[in-house]
Amino acid sequence: MHHALAPGVIQIATTRRDNAFLVEGDDGYTLIDVGWASAPTTLLATLADLGRKPTDIRRIVITHAHPDHVQGAARLRTATGARLLIHAADAPWLEAGQVPPHGRSGRLGRLIDQLPKLHWTPTSPDAHLTDGEHIERSNGLRVIHTPGHTPGHIALHHEPTHTALLGDALFNRSNLTLGPAALAADPALRSDSLHKLPSDLHTIGFAHGAPLTGSATDTFHEFLRKTRSANKPA
Ligand SMILES: [Zn+2]
Ligand SMILES: [Zn+2]
Repeated sequence: MHHALAPGVIQIATTRRDNAFLVEGDDGYTLIDVGWASAPTTLLATLADLGRKPTDIRRIVITHAHPDHVQGAARLRTATGARLLIHAADAPWLEAGQVPPHGRSGRLGRLIDQLPKLHWTPTSPDAHLTDGEHIERSNGLRVIHTPGHTPGHIALHHEPTHTALLGDALFNRSNLTLGPAALAADPALRSDSLHKLPSDLHTIGFAHGAPLTGSATDTFHEFLRKTRSANKPA
């Protein structure tokens, strides 16, 4: 299942709960996140649907090193030959094949990370991403470092269409939430990171949950206003 989120931005459901995104550029696609171990099968089938070939994915950008985003990364890199890119602060996790104990603020998070089904093939990235960097000149895709959920979490800003892809910086399951604090590395940083996002967004994509477009983005701006006033000393 895939659909155009904005011109040049395609949302792909890799499961009923998880989304990845393809961003078109002059040299092919940039893929934002992979997904679970089964995701490469879905992503390659989607490429075929689009009339494109696996090597049309030129780079794979990982928003953060959690299993629901990276577990299929090693296999998809082999299938596509794409370069694998991640923020330096999450690179050691990608290379370890699991979230380290200090990667979760709560005991519940540390317990689930011991489950083998939440581990992945240890993988080294081809390069590190930094805050403010443009991933590829022609696609207008900019990195925004949004630490909190993980230390190296990034959101992506597709400047030509005023679209933001938030990864797990924010969830939109039944409503907008920052997600369980126990599963985040540094929960207190999360709302500050959201305030680094541009204010003129037309479309917002989530790794988990339905996108917001047009007037529906008002609920996002309202969420930001609430978290800002909640953080302010009385
Ligand atoms: Zn996550
Ligand atoms: Zn996730």
